[in-house]
Amino acid sequence: MSTALNFNPGPAMLPPTVLEKVQAELRDYQGRGMSIMEMSHRSKEYEAVNAQAEASLKRLLGVGDGYRALFVQGGASTQFAMVPMNFLPPGGTADYLINGSWGEKAYDEAVKVGQARVVGSTKDDAYRRVPHAGEIKLSPDSAYVHLTSNETIQGVQWHAFPDVVDRPLVADMSSDILSRPIDAGRFSLIYAGAQKNLGPSGVTVVLILESWLERANKGVPTMLRYATHVKNNSLYNTPPTFGVYVLNLVLQWVDEIGGLAALAERNARKAAILYDAIDGSQGFYRGHAAPDSRSSMNVTFRLPSEALEKKFLAEAQAVGMVGLPGHRSVGGCRASIYNAMSVEGCQALASLMDDFARRNG
Ligand SMILES: *Cc1c(COP(=O)(O)O)cnc(C)c1O
Repeated sequence: MSTALNFNPGPAMLPPTVLEKVQAELRDYQGRGMSIMEMSHRSKEYEAVNAQAEASLKRLLGVGDGYRALFVQGGASTQFAMVPMNFLPPGGTADYLINGSWGEKAYDEAVKVGQARVVGSTKDDAYRRVPHAGEIKLSPDSAYVHLTSNETIQGVQWHAFPDVVDRPLVADMSSDILSRPIDAGRFSLIYAGAQKNLGPSGVTVVLILESWLERANKGVPTMLRYATHVKNNSLYNTPPTFGVYVLNLVLQWVDEIGGLAALAERNARKAAILYDAIDGSQGFYRGHAAPDSRSSMNVTFRLPSEALEKKFLAEAQAVGMVGLPGHRSVGGCRASIYNAMSVEGCQALASLMDDFARRNG
């Protein structure tokens, strides 16, 4: 048994009970004498997994018949291009709200496709927070407004989504999807790479308001059109079947743990344990994010010196806590505490932080 306490930013920890189920079913899926990896994506077994995963995801997000949940490939990074390819019309404009590195990347792709504007950015504030309402200046007739609900690298999260009036709202929710209840009905499109909160890498989830497809650009290559995947129930070509199977088990686990309300409460408790360790350290630890934009998924912090950061990370590693180095662009430390991380795991890290500060402060 592995005893690593896994704070990896992504691919990230999965619920241990999900891994046990995968292991138990690996050689013989439902009495078929083979793994689900070895079956046709057109088999009734896989079609059931695919249909159940879509239904569970829609139910958990609280959306009905007007929406479709898709399982595609290419990661969130391909969605950066697919969104404008489909929904930025020739001569039109798309608005981007940017509060960290992933939002920048999404915007960079959009300007390769058409005209996009940054209508709110906290770059000058080192992406420590989301833009305030007064800083957001939407275009009069934007084709859509794009935001990143949780910036994984900076640890900056939207706690209330901005009012975009009647413009379609699009969100990259790669690192906080299903971490809390949201009003998904406010969004025309949500996308997420699975490898943070939903399952293994290789699957990308898209939730799309089906009626928006009527406005999609024509002439987009087949695999890059949302309509292709909607029409074919995510089975146009061979999907990442094993990843969708694991994702479906993770969705069942979300139900078992009590759904999004229970997860939100647990995630808030976990985050509070770590932010309390930062705030109670008399300045030894310094959080990167401004308190009103702190992420419940990625806790970013610095120590008094790079030498102490190195020492802290080495001590953490020695007791089995892995994945804690911050992204090179922010430095310091980052604890990624997605849905699968336990309260006890966060308590163990907070204890180490307290103890380390006492010994080195
Ligand atoms: C990890 C991440 C991405 C990149 O996802 P890929 O699946 O690797 O393309 C994009 N956006 C956010 C918010 C992320 O956390």
